[in-house]
Amino acid sequence: MFDYHVHTTFSVDCATPMEASCEAAVAAGVTEIAFTDHQDLQPSDMGFGLYQPAAYFAEVERMRDRFDGRLTILAGVEVDYHTETHEAVEEFITEFGPRYDFVIGSVHYAAGGEIVFPELFGGKQLDDVILPYLDQVERAVMTGWFDTIGHLDLPKRYLPKTHRDYDPAAYRARISALLDVFVAQDQAFEINTSGMRQRPKTSMPGPAIVRWYAELGGTRITTGTDSHAAQTVGAGLQATLQMLKLCGIDDILSFRRRAETRVPIDTLLSA
Ligand SMILES: [Zn+2]
Ligand SMILES: [Zn+2]
Repeated sequence: MFDYHVHTTFSVDCATPMEASCEAAVAAGVTEIAFTDHQDLQPSDMGFGLYQPAAYFAEVERMRDRFDGRLTILAGVEVDYHTETHEAVEEFITEFGPRYDFVIGSVHYAAGGEIVFPELFGGKQLDDVILPYLDQVERAVMTGWFDTIGHLDLPKRYLPKTHRDYDPAAYRARISALLDVFVAQDQAFEINTSGMRQRPKTSMPGPAIVRWYAELGGTRITTGTDSHAAQTVGAGLQATLQMLKLCGIDDILSFRRRAETRVPIDTLLSA
């Protein structure tokens, strides 16, 4: 199994050392792990300016030595993207992009620089959050900078009880248009299993969106747990592989130095 979305102490919101997650990965049957700490380029973010690539790469090298032969460790990063940080992201990608194995582009902010948390929904209809969020995801896809797009329907995770439930079917026209852009751009997206452990109780995105993507000819998928704690490394990945198969996806992507190979899901399913 591939867990391509794991945070460590190099992220402001995570206290789990890389080594603890490597141990947990081996125990969970994860064969490839990508450490994707936050690169937050939104000035108001609590992690702004904290990411240290040199120290990060040194720790990845140390772990590669320690887990040699037991676990494939990818140097990754989760780059926050929205249109107001476009130039800062471009600078980072230009300077550091080639040094990574794998780069996630994730939208965590609305266009106005408001973080996608429950407070964002205050005084707004669901549409006023979901539709602009999907627009930001589309802008991220159009950059062509990212190996995958993180949690493409993230707002559902932070939906307050005051709002009607998010049903992707209610946004099918907009989401299908977005998926057309993913297909046209050869852009992968991730199945982020953290939603299965949290309030949405379904991955981000869930099966409906995956099925629409496959029907439109899409084939590029990565998998990750978005773990901020060692005990969730690998969580939900087997169920996700089965879900992908049922939705018409036959393989997932593996990365080295930003280059992808396809791995048949059948070779990753446990008996
Ligand atoms: Zn994220
Ligand atoms: Zn993350």
